[in-house]
Amino acid sequence: MQSKFKRILFGGDYNPNQWPKEVWAQDMAYFKDAHINSATINVFSWAKIQPSENEYDFTELDEIVDMLSNENYDIVMATSTAALPAWMVKKYPETMSTDYEGRRHKFGARHNFCPNSLVYQKYAKTLATELAKRYSGNKNISVWHINNEYGGYCYCDNCQKQFRVWLKDKYKTIDAVNDAWNTEFWGHTFYDWDEIVVPNELSEEAWDGMTSFAGISTDYRRFYSDSMLNCYKLERDAVKAIIPDALVTTNLMGTFKGLDYFKWAKEMDIVSWDNYPAYDTPWSMVAMTHDLMRGLKDEPFMLMEQTPSQQNWQHYNSLKRPGQMRAQSYQTIAHGADTIQFFQLRRSKGGCEKFHGAVIAHVGTNDTRVFRETAQLGRELESFGTRTLGTRNKSDVGIIFDWDNYWALEYTSGPTRDLKYVDQIHHYYEYFYNKNISVDMIPVDGDFSKYKVIAAPVLYMVKEGMKEKLEQFVKNGGTLITTFMSGIVDQSDNVHLGGYPGPLREMAGVWVEEIDALAPEQSNTVSFSDGKEYKCNLLCDLMHPEGAEVLATYESDFYAGMPAVTKNSYGKGHVYYVATQLEAAGLARVLDEATDEVSVSGVIAEETGLEITCRESENTRFYFVMNFTDEKQALPASLAGKVDLITGETAKEGDMMNKWDVKILQEAL
Ligand SMILES: [Zn+2]
Repeated sequence: MQSKFKRILFGGDYNPNQWPKEVWAQDMAYFKDAHINSATINVFSWAKIQPSENEYDFTELDEIVDMLSNENYDIVMATSTAALPAWMVKKYPETMSTDYEGRRHKFGARHNFCPNSLVYQKYAKTLATELAKRYSGNKNISVWHINNEYGGYCYCDNCQKQFRVWLKDKYKTIDAVNDAWNTEFWGHTFYDWDEIVVPNELSEEAWDGMTSFAGISTDYRRFYSDSMLNCYKLERDAVKAIIPDALVTTNLMGTFKGLDYFKWAKEMDIVSWDNYPAYDTPWSMVAMTHDLMRGLKDEPFMLMEQTPSQQNWQHYNSLKRPGQMRAQSYQTIAHGADTIQFFQLRRSKGGCEKFHGAVIAHVGTNDTRVFRETAQLGRELESFGTRTLGTRNKSDVGIIFDWDNYWALEYTSGPTRDLKYVDQIHHYYEYFYNKNISVDMIPVDGDFSKYKVIAAPVLYMVKEGMKEKLEQFVKNGGTLITTFMSGIVDQSDNVHLGGYPGPLREMAGVWVEEIDALAPEQSNTVSFSDGKEYKCNLLCDLMHPEGAEVLATYESDFYAGMPAVTKNSYGKGHVYYVATQLEAAGLARVLDEATDEVSVSGVIAEETGLEITCRESENTRFYFVMNFTDEKQALPASLAGKVDLITGETAKEGDMMNKWDVKILQEAL
């Protein structure tokens, strides 16, 4: 596809407004050395560009825009609305958010606004309009970046009023609300809309972070995601009213729980996101999150932020080791990025991000390891020109990711508190990652027909229409893999009666009678027909086959001999049901069978410890080959003879790759 960019954007957040003018010219010279061609500006400048209610001052921003435009930068123009100016909070305290404990916050921090404050909305929209008017003629502004990392939560009276409006729109009658939330339970019946209050620690979520009514709590999540999205749309529409062809985004945060990013992506021209793995985050998790961000629109995305080395807000902010930032950047491109941008270009002098890594460190020169590594990457990316831009990742496997499921599953009271949605999805993703099988992360309303295999781990909430969609996929020859805690509830978190896994029961060919929760120190064993045994833990479904073939059974406890893994033929396809959390080797065995029988394979035939991910243009396949392991890895034979895009050298079988080494090998199509 056509990329949205003319070159790989390489740069990041730049805040010259925090520095005296004499620093600016020096920065521009250093950035040129690093092959930086893009800057994200005006992210937190509301107080400066609107110093009072009726006054705008773009003097300094004009100078910054001119400076960058003169050097032909791709400018990413943010709208500055993620931190309120002090004058606004003083005059309109209701613009600040109210927390989970019901306390209205005072001036301070960021991401601190109430999305349902009409005052906030008015001033944010007006600011976006003023910025768009001011810079509409500037051809160097490539992207409009609304707000920043939308997040936070609010439980104020404004939000409560608006929640009732949202509910009226969704349910029409109070009886329908009572029905959806099953309020006969504990006699929580509502007689009138104004009896509904926000679910926080003062109401339904009064016990240890759990909720008494997952229906209410899940609806509040949906409402809140919509409220934030409404703020985004107000600003986006303000920009587009002045600049109709503006490319508009906001930076997302991977598997962040608060917002339904699939719904958001429909309103964004391009997805962008901020990648901040911790020192111990598995590389497969980072890869999965990139795939999720690509999957939001099924298109290449922007990496809006990563640190050149260190973070400041994690528990242990390790340095990126020599070569790590470069390898991590190539992994990002491998999974679909068309930009590499940093937070930030010059390290802050004060404030909580003074220890956050930057291209230019506090020493203020270009003579640092981090600068040299940045410059090397910049030089390499510049040399590729447009070759990788707009190229696509192709997958036979889809894994369903769904924010409604994320929320509802983690709101459930029982059967275990250790069930974490993202970890369960990753458990399955990791198998495909280790085999270098390309995966798309897909929404429940995605096009399933593109895939041979769809994995739907812990598909707890099966909403209206999903049963039919999944059945159609399997009937047409698809393979569906699903697990324990699937098919349990409908979109309002009410149980699908008539036996688990509810709407999936017929196609899976099993009936789950009971669900046992295992404490961390407990486990069971699963035995396959050839006698091979694997550990399992967390949850164990006690189930009866209803036509499904039993692939493995439990070995111990009173349910020894009952099925633990089954496979059912349904139409032209198959449904695998994995009734417990299997250790990785056991899960691999099931997934090997499921993928082999429909000829799903890795991007190369050989097994390897290297990560190999492909992007394709019309005429070239690019193999991104990366070593994220601690051991040297030999280049597999099937990649020999291909030319490395980075060095121009021809790869040879057995070429040794050290940790963090990268090759981009090209194959004509
Ligand atoms: Zn609010």
